[in-house]
Amino acid sequence: MSASLSFEIFPPRKDADFQTIIRTLDELRDLSPNFISVTFGAGGSANSKKTLDIASLVKNKYQTSSIVHLPCIHLNKNDIISILDECKKQGLKKILALRGDIVPDKPISRDFKYASDLISFIKKQGDFEIYAAAYPEKHNEARDFVEDIRHLKFKVDCGVDLLLTQLFFDNEDFYKFKEKCDIAGIKVPILAGVMPVTNKRQVLKITQMCGAKIPTKFAKILHKYEQNDEAMKDAGLAYAIDQIVDLLTNDVLGIHLYTMNKPNIARRIYEATHTLF
Ligand code: FAD
Repeated sequence: MSASLSFEIFPPRKDADFQTIIRTLDELRDLSPNFISVTFGAGGSANSKKTLDIASLVKNKYQTSSIVHLPCIHLNKNDIISILDECKKQGLKKILALRGDIVPDKPISRDFKYASDLISFIKKQGDFEIYAAAYPEKHNEARDFVEDIRHLKFKVDCGVDLLLTQLFFDNEDFYKFKEKCDIAGIKVPILAGVMPVTNKRQVLKITQMCGAKIPTKFAKILHKYEQNDEAMKDAGLAYAIDQIVDLLTNDVLGIHLYTMNKPNIARRIYEATHTLF
């Protein structure tokens, strides 16, 4: 069986930028992804419209499978029911069920504390395929790996069909994580999240947010090329391609590419690796 290639995109911040997402999708569609997932800002239900509009576009106009990200930490049961109803109307059957990152000053959900609460709830709302997040370097709030894997096993047992991982820069972390999942009896497919880094600012912001560590080999690249945009882009792409080649050689089930809405980057990765899938 060949490995899958999928993309993550995010809704543009300003409504006026909606056309840019159309151009992004025009280009991504040519790369024949297995699916495209659309993020959803955890701030509340007002963010759902853009996510659903784009996911629907992906599915209904571009005829490509789409995944709706759904963070629950600032939503209540009624919000989730109305979002799922809208998904049903648009034919969107695949949900990435997330807790979400807590936004300061926003009221916390009365109904959902963890992604597992949301997953159990979605299971009762209809026939959805449920995806969830996993962390090869453990989630940054978890005390240790044993605790995080125990929570992950519980989450999967609530009804997860597939796991998508957080980005990581050291494949050894992913392989060790997979071993831990095997030992814990987590048997659902796990797709590896890869982010091509094209500038130093981007990587510092992201690693601060999700806690991914930067291996020495990659830190040297960042240090050497940070002042040279073109060289940084080439080196970042080469690093991501190297990661993907190694993952595919080691029989990963799929690569989920964090595209950052940059289809030219996705295309360069696709061109360098598509015969390996
Ligand atoms: P959970 O699985 O609920 O875990 C959160 C923490 O709680 C972990 O430390 C876990 O160990 C702990 N925990 C879980 N269950 C229990 C329990 N029963 N008792 C005690 N502790 C427990 N965020 C967004 O806002 N929007 C997005 O679109 C988005 N997309 C993402 C896509 C991917 C592929 C990934 C990997 C992350 C994404 N995130 C997104 C970020 C995600 O919401 C955050 O990482 C968030 O902090 C955790 O979400 P989760 O669903 O993994 O949480």
